Amino acid sequence: MSTFQAPKGTYDLLPPDSATYLAVREAIAAPLRNSGYGYVETPGFENVELFARGVGESTDIVTKEMYAFETKGGDKLALRPEGTASVLRAALEGNLHKAGNLPVKLWYSGSYYRYERPQKGRYRHFSQVGAEAIGAEDPALDAELIILADQAYRSLGLKEFRILLNSLGDKECRPVYRAALQEFLRGLDLDEETRRRIDINPLRVLDDKRADVQKQLVGAPMLADYLCDACKAYHEQVRELLTAAGVGYEDDPKLVRGLDYYTRTTFEFVHDGLGSQSAVGGGGRYDGLSEMIGGPALPSVGWALGVDRTVLALEAEGITLDLPAATTVFAVPLGEEARRVLFAKVTELRRAGVAADFSYGGKGLKGAMKNANRSGARFTVVAGERDLAEGVVQLKDMESGEQEAVAVDEVVAVVKSKLV
Ligand code: ATP
Ligand code: MG
Repeated sequence: MSTFQAPKGTYDLLPPDSATYLAVREAIAAPLRNSGYGYVETPGFENVELFARGVGESTDIVTKEMYAFETKGGDKLALRPEGTASVLRAALEGNLHKAGNLPVKLWYSGSYYRYERPQKGRYRHFSQVGAEAIGAEDPALDAELIILADQAYRSLGLKEFRILLNSLGDKECRPVYRAALQEFLRGLDLDEETRRRIDINPLRVLDDKRADVQKQLVGAPMLADYLCDACKAYHEQVRELLTAAGVGYEDDPKLVRGLDYYTRTTFEFVHDGLGSQSAVGGGGRYDGLSEMIGGPALPSVGWALGVDRTVLALEAEGITLDLPAATTVFAVPLGEEARRVLFAKVTELRRAGVAADFSYGGKGLKGAMKNANRSGARFTVVAGERDLAEGVVQLKDMESGEQEAVAVDEVVAVVKSKLV
């Protein structure tokens, strides 16, 4: 151990477990790549104001969880706590929304930072893969994104997740609901902070996890009863498209996001094996966000899935991903001449697309074979002076235990023929 440890609320991804993380990222990204989403990468930090406006001044993320700092040059920046605001900022800055190519469909993958109370499934540094479809109001887009996330989770073998779905209305019907909810909330016995929330962000109060608050919320007006006809029709289409695609969901009239630029479709993926950190991902429509950060009207929809919690979900379901061994051929040279010959073979194998590794450090046969076993390699290639004198190497199939002498010049071809 060194003098240092990973900072509180963070952890390192190390082999072999790190392979699972990469595979999860890949599994979430694959359906997106396959559906017209282009990869976007934005800086790990942004102008703090982008998040204040784009995530919302009244959210926990901005008020409590953001790593904000001032640079030596006096810029006020923040480590990114989420992806949507940055991606939209980048799309606007890059003029992706101009050339008649709406919707702009983008996906991203990366690290996010929130100053939270660390616990299982809740970290200060975590990973998300996300997707945004910018600049179109079409229920098929909302459905597409939910279907793709469902496909990603299924491809990982996950079964115990549920999709919660709701509609938040739009700028026609939500204000009416908001006012009705505020009136109801003002009649309750709530603490000072929650009372303040009634003014800024009343929908968030519905989301309060405390039992004494939840008890009082029985009988609160429900958004579903206030949706205008256009919102109802839109939501009905999303639901029908999901059903037609065989994607199960649960209507959850209490699922909310507090901010005004979140509109209509909202959803969350929850996993039942995760205890209190049960949300593995979430998303929805954010028709007003672009204007909020100084752009034109661009109705959009997106989601972000947490990689860390998805990995925990795999563990909770006892799923081990069937990952191919990193190494296919492990070369074990015995002596100087063999080192030279086999190192060249390893290079040749790699250039031919075969994953190969080499016994470094001048180990003896026993130690080298231990490494070969640990690598999970399908074949080992062993060569000593006598083999080379005969122009051969010993190719051993680690699965069957069979060993054969193969001409040095033919090793690559023989290995490749055995792999098909
Ligand atoms: P929660 O209610 O659990 O705090 P959230 O609403 O803050 O979640 P989002 O901002 O919607 O979460 O982020 C999407 C996903 O990112 C979450 O569903 C979760 O999987 C993951 N995530 C969010 N915050 C963390 C964190 N601190 N540590 C690990 N994963 C996180
Ligand atoms: Mg949170």
